[in-house]
Amino acid sequence: MSKKFCKSCVLSESEYFHLSSTGLCKLCASPNLNSHIFVKPDTLALENLIKKIRYNGKGRKYDCVVGWSGGRDSTHLIVQLATKLNLRCLAVFGKTPFTPPEIIRNVRTIAEKLNVDLIEVDTPAHHQTVARFCLEQYKKTKAPIFINLACASCKYINMSIFKIAHEYNVRSVVYGGNRFEYLPSGPASVDINAEDRYSFFNMVKDNLLRISKGIYVLLRNPAILRYLGVFLKASLLYVNQYTIWFRLVYPKIFRFDYYHYADWNESEVEETLRIFEWALPEDCTSTWRADCIFEAVKNTAFLKQLGFTYSQALYSNLIRAGKLSREEALRRLSQEGISEPRLKKALEICGLDTDVLK
Ligand SMILES: [Zn+2]
Repeated sequence: MSKKFCKSCVLSESEYFHLSSTGLCKLCASPNLNSHIFVKPDTLALENLIKKIRYNGKGRKYDCVVGWSGGRDSTHLIVQLATKLNLRCLAVFGKTPFTPPEIIRNVRTIAEKLNVDLIEVDTPAHHQTVARFCLEQYKKTKAPIFINLACASCKYINMSIFKIAHEYNVRSVVYGGNRFEYLPSGPASVDINAEDRYSFFNMVKDNLLRISKGIYVLLRNPAILRYLGVFLKASLLYVNQYTIWFRLVYPKIFRFDYYHYADWNESEVEETLRIFEWALPEDCTSTWRADCIFEAVKNTAFLKQLGFTYSQALYSNLIRAGKLSREEALRRLSQEGISEPRLKKALEICGLDTDVLK
């Protein structure tokens, strides 16, 4: 953190993001790179989408399936859908070996308070093995892509969500994805700078870009072959709810991200967490990414390789979007840091020690 920061956001000068002569990082200097992040809230479009969900739900037990990680945004989402909009929700809670026990308790008690039916799904049994393999490859090659691939198994939760929606005859799936978490020009980013980033056409483009990027990564890191099937599914078929795969396999299931239309307001989100007594997991320094302790591993590796953390990238997006002041972001960064106990625990789950990140 001793490095020089972009004078407009809080990304630090690094090999990855050079600062221009005016002191700006690439993302602040080229606003078009962020165009799909700064889409204005659209309440009319949101109202129409909710109408569509109600219409789709007619004569069925549920209006929608809601993807719930137990984190702050998806918790706020389920509360909004179940209480403010009175939708009949079937919540699907995706658990991983890295989900803190407090998050599991939070989800169960909040589902009960909301009187929402809850289905818990787990990531595949190979989750830790794949994560361990990726971290070991990362140690050998220092290729940041392995840090992203370590989370491949999480993407299988998307598949479970669609399967459950199909099984329970639900026609709408709602996600709580937050645009501000996207890092343009990141090692795993597929940059398509369009407002309709997830339209069918742009997703065809997205999927083709992923294939060519994948081939390039594979040629440079042939070790990937060992879990090629997992990585292919995770980065192409299940990577998000908009993939061509999900559209072809589940053409009748409509999906959307609530916060791509609703205004995402951090203090409202925090207020919901307070009202519903959402407990912050042990050793956690921030509500953001509280739902996954592997976040500490990713942040440590990114800081080392790229010169900044995910939190810096998120706060920088929030600053550019006018949602957070630069002073507040700097204050948070100086207080939050990376939680050592969470880092240790996550690596322990993979059967590794902290040397793997050195
Ligand atoms: Zn910047």
